[in-house]
Amino acid sequence: MARERLYLFDTTLRDGAQTNGVDFTLADKLAISRMLDDLGIDYVEAGYPGANPIDTAFFAEKRSAHAKITAFGMTRRPGRSASNDPGLAALLAAEADAICFVAKSWDYHVRVALETTDEENLASIRDSVRAAKAIGREVLLDCEHFFDGYKANPAYALACAKAAYDEGARWVVLCDTNGGTLPHEVGKIVGEICEQIPGDHVGIHAHNDTEQAVANTFAAVRAGARQIQGTLNGLGERCGNANLVSIIPTLKLKPDFSEKFDIGVSDEALGHIARVSHALDDLLNRAADRHAPYVGESAFATKAGIHASAIMKEPKTYEHVAPELVGNKRKLLVSDQSGRSNLLVELDRIGFAVDKDDPRLSRLLDEVKEREAIGYAYEAADASFELLARRLLGKVPRYFEVEKFDVNVEQRVNAKGERVTVSQAVVKVKVGDELLISAGEGNGPVNALDVALRKDLGKYQGYITGLELTDYRVRILNAGTEAVTRVLIESEDETGDRWTTIGVSPNIIDASFQALMDSIVYKLLKSGAPA
Ligand SMILES: [Zn+2]
Repeated sequence: MARERLYLFDTTLRDGAQTNGVDFTLADKLAISRMLDDLGIDYVEAGYPGANPIDTAFFAEKRSAHAKITAFGMTRRPGRSASNDPGLAALLAAEADAICFVAKSWDYHVRVALETTDEENLASIRDSVRAAKAIGREVLLDCEHFFDGYKANPAYALACAKAAYDEGARWVVLCDTNGGTLPHEVGKIVGEICEQIPGDHVGIHAHNDTEQAVANTFAAVRAGARQIQGTLNGLGERCGNANLVSIIPTLKLKPDFSEKFDIGVSDEALGHIARVSHALDDLLNRAADRHAPYVGESAFATKAGIHASAIMKEPKTYEHVAPELVGNKRKLLVSDQSGRSNLLVELDRIGFAVDKDDPRLSRLLDEVKEREAIGYAYEAADASFELLARRLLGKVPRYFEVEKFDVNVEQRVNAKGERVTVSQAVVKVKVGDELLISAGEGNGPVNALDVALRKDLGKYQGYITGLELTDYRVRILNAGTEAVTRVLIESEDETGDRWTTIGVSPNIIDASFQALMDSIVYKLLKSGAPA
């Protein structure tokens, strides 16, 4: 049976940009639209031309190779003609392949928010669709508050959707703007609409206010809708939009969908989706969600010792899909609960063949347990675990030695009379026979230490230029009688690989230093730097 085409519409740059604390620059927008284009998204909704300088600049030229760049805006204002509405004019002037109009479809909103009549609202929809079609744009209509509107007055909500469809709109998109509709309601209502408007002209736009945006999306698809709107990582105001990073793998990997539908995302592109998801978080300068389905660091992580050997023998028994398909990795957690089999499997994964009776294995297990008792948490710090294992079982070259470091925090009044705190660090490093001294300044002592440490590593400098610290987490633990500080540092390099290192000490600078050192040494090791 021929598969039906399902279309993906991304609104990270429009609805996602409504998120509290998110402020995309033009460069951000261009980078994200390029990623979406490469991923195989059909429509990229990029913002409101004419509404602000960034969006206007974005829509000043053609921005994609394949995806249809979509401009978003209101239908003509009530009481005006289409040719006499500056907002509509900006929308029509945008360098866009498609225009997505938003219109009220709940009669209550038409009266209260728009302060106009039901009939004038329908006329505004028809006029706007006609104006955009006349200049050759593909047209979409976002029916705002569609599900609430349909529950209150089904005939009017349907009339809004029909007005756009009959006028030639390619898509009528049913929006659950408040995000409060439940999957069984979405299924029922979308089913009823698809009896009036062919499903291959119907889209779904779901919000996550009951944490069912993804479920609502699939309910709509099963009921006949053939366009899915969503955002990367579910970005969006309040609780977010439907998460395309969860939806795409499900469409591609679950037979209920993959046997019925084709989407524009290739198998190869699917293999990059974890990286796309992380790249968005990097742009937003926030840590990736470890527990994100498919792409999170923990999505394929198992802790229990009894499962470890079974997983290696037959991964399928414990994994709903293969992690490689979405660019993720299987992970076995090493923790104080772990037994030998877990440890063996983890060693095997990092390239050590150790016999299960090897006495070094007991030493490593003891060492892990001892360290975990004083606050280390190796299950959260894969790279530090690997270094520990290599040091004990194999060899980690002594690339360099920090002979001494000095960190200094000073609070003073600057020339403008403001009270400022400045941190400086000086690091003395020995690389071979070379003694290097570097100083760094930072917004805090750890930052200053990091800057100084990575400023000059002599012959190794070239290996660490792509190294970036992406997250820094501190926790105070009560181990025994004394409080100790645990620092976890997440790093990333130019290849997109990520790893986490750990440091524990009563002193936060010392704990941070351990984690920084592990990160650098790990990077040198993985880059094959010569000893
Ligand atoms: Zn929305």
